[in-house]
Amino acid sequence: MRVAVYYSNDDLRLEERPIPKISSQEILLRVEAAGICGSDVMEWYRRDKAPLVLGHEIAGTIEEVGTKVRNYKKGDRITCAHHVPCDRCKYCLSGHQTVCETLRKTNIDPGGFAEFVRLPEANVKKGVFILPESVSFEEATFVEPLACVLRAQRLAGGVEGKSILVIGSGISGILHIHFARICGASFIVAVDISEFRLDAAKRFGADVSIYAKDYTAELGRRLNQQRLFELVIVATSAPSAILQAFESVERGGTVLFFAPCEPGVKIPVAFNELFWRTEIGFVSSYAATPHEYQEALDFIARGNLRLKEMITHRLDLSEIGLGFKLVVEARDSLKVIVYPTGGSYYGLGNAKQDEPYL
Ligand SMILES: [Zn+2]
Ligand SMILES: [Zn+2]
Repeated sequence: MRVAVYYSNDDLRLEERPIPKISSQEILLRVEAAGICGSDVMEWYRRDKAPLVLGHEIAGTIEEVGTKVRNYKKGDRITCAHHVPCDRCKYCLSGHQTVCETLRKTNIDPGGFAEFVRLPEANVKKGVFILPESVSFEEATFVEPLACVLRAQRLAGGVEGKSILVIGSGISGILHIHFARICGASFIVAVDISEFRLDAAKRFGADVSIYAKDYTAELGRRLNQQRLFELVIVATSAPSAILQAFESVERGGTVLFFAPCEPGVKIPVAFNELFWRTEIGFVSSYAATPHEYQEALDFIARGNLRLKEMITHRLDLSEIGLGFKLVVEARDSLKVIVYPTGGSYYGLGNAKQDEPYL
C-alpha cells in the first residue's frame, strides 16, 4: 500500500509498505479522507520521532474485521479515535481522560496518511464511530478537530451569551468561532495576520475581524461595549497572542489556551495586574474523549455546521508535500484534506457528492 512518510515539514515521501495484518480483535480500515492537522506540522514535536506516518483526522470504509469483532462489519463507513482512554485511572475518573497514560500510548497503525490503517483492540472497543449516511467522509474528518473544540469550550465553562475573542483564525480558530456562534456566543471578535483567514472568520461567525498588528485590548474594549472579553481563546502558537490574551480578558473571565508555543518559550506576567482582584481563570485542553467524538459527529450529522466550505484544498496522497506546505504557510488555506485511496467511494449512501479535487 501507499503511505506518506514524514521526515520533516518539507520532506514527505511516498513509500510502499505491506498492508497491516489484523488480529481477531482488530479492524483494517481503508482510509478515504484524512485531514492535515496544525499539530502535524509542529516540527519540534514531530521531528524527533521521524520517520513516521502522521494523520489522525480520518474517515474510511472497513475493509476487514477480526474474527472476534462483533459490532462492526466490512463495508461500514466510520471515523475513529486514534487515542482512547482507559476509563479507570484517577485522571479518567476525574474527567481528564485526555491526560490518561493509556490515551497517550494508544494509536492507529501506521497513521492516517496511508491507504489502510490497523485499529488496535483498544481503539476498536472505544474509538469507532459509524457515520450516518448524511455525513460524507470529508465532513467526518472534522469529527476529531471539532471534538477537541467542543471539549475545550466546555472546559472553559461554555460560550452561551459570552463575548469571545479568538486570537488565531486558522482552521482551529475558525472551528472555535463557528461552533461558538452556533452555541449562542453573544459577540465574537477574530484576530489573525492573514486577510484570507480574517475574511473566513467573518463568514463562519465572527462579528468583527481584526488584523493582528492593529489589535489592541483598548480596541477590543471599544468594540465590545466598553468591556473586555469574557472568554479569550488562543488558537495560535505566537507568544504575542498570549500577551494579548492576558490584556483582553474581562474580570471574572477565562483564557483558553488551545495551542502550544515553541518549546522553551517563557511568558512574563505582571502578576498583580493580571490576578489581583480579577478572578480570571486559565484553562488548557488537549485532545478529546470518545464521548466528545460522538457528540461532534452528532452535531455534524444535524447539518448546521458549514464544514465543507472550510475545505480549501483536496489533494491526492502523492501531493501531501504541497498540503504540508500550505498548512505551514498558514495563509490562504483552512482545511487541507488528503485522499489516500483517491476518494473513490465518494458519495456512498446518501452522502452529498463531494468534489474529489479542486
Ligand atoms: Zn487534529
Ligand atoms: Zn485513564
